[in-house]
Amino acid sequence: MPEPFSGFSTRAVHAGNEVDRHMVTHPKAQPIYQTSVFVYESLAQVDDFLAGNPDNYMYTRIGNPNPAALEELILALEGGEAALFGASGMAAIGAALLGNLEAGDHLIASRELYGTTQSLIEKELGRFGIATTLVDIRDLAAVEAAIGPRTRLIYTETASNPLVRVSDVPALAALAKRRGLKLLVDNTFLSPALYRPLDDGADLVLHSTTKYLNGHSDATGGILAGDAEWVARARRFQINAGGSASPFEAWLTFRGAKTLALRMQAHSRNAQALAEALEAHPQVARVHYPGLPSHPDHALARRLFPRGCSGMLSFTLKGGLAEVDRLIHNLRLAVFAPSLAGVATSISHPGKTSHRALAPEILAELDIHDGTVRVSAGIEEAEDIVGDFVQALDRL
Ligand SMILES: *Cc1c(COP(=O)(O)O)cnc(C)c1O
Repeated sequence: MPEPFSGFSTRAVHAGNEVDRHMVTHPKAQPIYQTSVFVYESLAQVDDFLAGNPDNYMYTRIGNPNPAALEELILALEGGEAALFGASGMAAIGAALLGNLEAGDHLIASRELYGTTQSLIEKELGRFGIATTLVDIRDLAAVEAAIGPRTRLIYTETASNPLVRVSDVPALAALAKRRGLKLLVDNTFLSPALYRPLDDGADLVLHSTTKYLNGHSDATGGILAGDAEWVARARRFQINAGGSASPFEAWLTFRGAKTLALRMQAHSRNAQALAEALEAHPQVARVHYPGLPSHPDHALARRLFPRGCSGMLSFTLKGGLAEVDRLIHNLRLAVFAPSLAGVATSISHPGKTSHRALAPEILAELDIHDGTVRVSAGIEEAEDIVGDFVQALDRL
């Protein structure tokens, strides 16, 4: 409390602010730096900030210790030269693309992208003169044929939503390298505990940390990691466009990420058990999980993901919308919540949520039907998850 100013309102604003100033011990857990701005003691400290001292913070939109801690953590998990944390997965994707591409540039992307990513590419990038060709990302000849003189980037997801089709990242990386392009991989569905795209030659990796990295369905965020120049331009865009994350969201995600490896083992084990049980159930027409020998990418998944295939799977009922509604009603443990990757098992309906905007013929071509249900297997006991689905299906 600065002397001699002691008016009531002055005390209310200033008392207690410096409780940590002379602390003998440091907190074991990271504090939440819930502040929009930092205090400077001299003009020289401003010069030091502008010279790029990473321990000098000025304003939370530009930088804050909580997002910085998370960036350091993800860099240690994914590898790469630099990382950037943003307010959501889409903030990180937007910063990566809009911060690096220019009018006239071209990118090649998987046609099975996360819906909002596809919308960003078509509705926003398109308006700024950045063109995209959507391809079947597993058809390497089609990817190569789409390369033009202004192509800069190949964009894919490690595993697609909702059919969990796997991208051959090593092959795409080799192609990108040979043709002088960058490869960016959205690794949200696998997480670095199960797969590290940068190790297989990708230049950049992305996550919606809203999903597995945080894992508790209570914080929104996104991270970009990899090539230092791309991350630096993405950071400049994020500062200018204002997509920076809040300290509290970063803190929650930092806390959640500590148990990532343990959670991913449990998610993978439970998804495998559930996929096998669903495949054996008479009400189920098809199950899509790369851990099953029946999945078209099973061999590739075994090669890329030896530690497990994560908790995402989908299945198609023999029935349609009415049976899906009854399934939602019958499930006692799993809830219908159109997101994924939390500790609790949840289901979603791609046709009514994530893929709602697609025409019926496109949905049919993608093998997504009225009876298709996506599951995000949680970390509960496998017997309880399997038992819940079996009792719900038995009563359809
Ligand atoms: C959820 C998700 C995103 C978008 O992330 P938000 O945090 O919702 O902005 C991007 N890619 C994939 C694969 C996702 O699942």
